[in-house]
Amino acid sequence: MRVIVLGAGVIGTTSAWYLARAGHEVTVVDRQPEAALETSFANGGQISVSHSEPWANPTAPLKILRWLGREDAPLLFRPRAELGEWLWALRFLAECLPSRARHNTEAALALARYSREELRQLRRDTAISYDAKTYGILHLYEEPREFEHATREAEMLKGRGLELEIKTPDECMRIEPALEHSKVRVVGGAYAASDESGDAQIFTKNLSELCRAQGVSFRFNVSVKGLEANRGAIERVVIDDEAGIEESLRSDAYVIALGSYSALLLRRIGISIPVYPVKGYSITLPLEAGSIAPQISLTDHARKIVISRLGDRLRVAGTAELNGYDTEMNTSRCDALVRRCFEWFPKAGRAESAQFWTGLRPATPSNLPLIGQSKYSNLFLNTGHGTLGWTLACGSGRALADIVSGRRPEPEFRFLETKARMKRATSSVAPRPTG
Ligand SMILES: Cc1cc2nc3c(=O)[nH]c(=O)nc-3n(C[C@H](O)[C@H](O)[C@H](O)COP(=O)(O)OP(=O)(O)OC[C@H]3O[C@@H](n4cnc5c(N)ncnc54)[C@H](O)[C@@H]3O)c2cc1C
Repeated sequence: MRVIVLGAGVIGTTSAWYLARAGHEVTVVDRQPEAALETSFANGGQISVSHSEPWANPTAPLKILRWLGREDAPLLFRPRAELGEWLWALRFLAECLPSRARHNTEAALALARYSREELRQLRRDTAISYDAKTYGILHLYEEPREFEHATREAEMLKGRGLELEIKTPDECMRIEPALEHSKVRVVGGAYAASDESGDAQIFTKNLSELCRAQGVSFRFNVSVKGLEANRGAIERVVIDDEAGIEESLRSDAYVIALGSYSALLLRRIGISIPVYPVKGYSITLPLEAGSIAPQISLTDHARKIVISRLGDRLRVAGTAELNGYDTEMNTSRCDALVRRCFEWFPKAGRAESAQFWTGLRPATPSNLPLIGQSKYSNLFLNTGHGTLGWTLACGSGRALADIVSGRRPEPEFRFLETKARMKRATSSVAPRPTG
């Protein structure tokens, strides 16, 4: 079957890979000159199965209230006169209920575990390189109450087969000796030895090359303007081509993997999805001879940031800001990341050499992605991966390719509407989200 994938971020590119492996004839379209130049460009680098608990959890509302009005707050809501933003925020609050948060954590965990296995398999199959590190992720806590919550959460996750060990501050230091110089007073940690890290942009770019070798064609510098439907199916996608001239592309099936922009395109054909941009920041610090920086990827739960060594660079990423599609750089938020980086690792390098970046997470209120078939028979979604797009990419791509091919995906996850021709009926398949 011919399939057009819209979007060449980590989600579109992994989708293309698994679709091509399943025997489909795939074309990928993106407005950028190469793969992974938007949200997948400079993220935190974590393959973090152990961080499946979404931001929307019972501890979130109080924290957000406490941080209100602080320009450098880890989670920042800038109220604007936009109904969609308010609705998203209300749905986020509803997802903070303990029963919802538990359900969302378990669903994300199932997909994340599957995804990490698929990533490992892909690595074995292709020897793809992307500054991968397989030393695990160490979660660090500064606040006793948060550490208690994490300890309870770890018990639940362990009950579902996740390797996650609670650690004392001394044990944390033994796991990551670079913490010896830290000025942050850690009350405890949780170590997920099976988690990983790596550069999502390098991975995606290299995977796009591997896709090409499998026969996938990429059309870069091409803007998607709209989709046209007829009798319950998509008839064509309208683009501005490489020369800016309007063109129609026709195919048997279409996959939407446009990150935060998926919602805008789908709205025009009557599909409303709860995907909203949540802005994040990262800094990338070149490491020099004598730099003392961690080897293990770290999660700083007090500030909601992650720290990963990517080759000879240190990536510090995080913070969340609800402010529409604005991608402007806020210096207070950049400075907060730099300050925190040097509180953890005073000898990491030179602050003035840090490179700043900002990206829009395609976030659903539950942090669960939308994967599967839409109300149009030949239109499929793979979007809304929020804080976990890199972690979930391979599993989501594989599951999407299975669904397009009429097979039931492996993980226990609520995929979007099933297809009549799917081989086995399953209770894990949900009705279409809306629209
Ligand atoms: C600060 C930060 C830190 C993060 N850290 C982590 C982490 O440690 N681990 C983790 O798992 N996840 C992390 N994430 C989340 C992860 O980066 C995202 O979930 C993921 O990159 C989303 O990928 P995507 O392919 O859906 O979106 P994108 O990468 O944005 O891809 C969408 C593509 O669609 C294209 N596009 C959009 N509109 C159009 C159009 N009209 N026409 C043509 N092309 C178009 C864009 O050019 C883009 O290439 C982080 C995110 C941020 C912001």
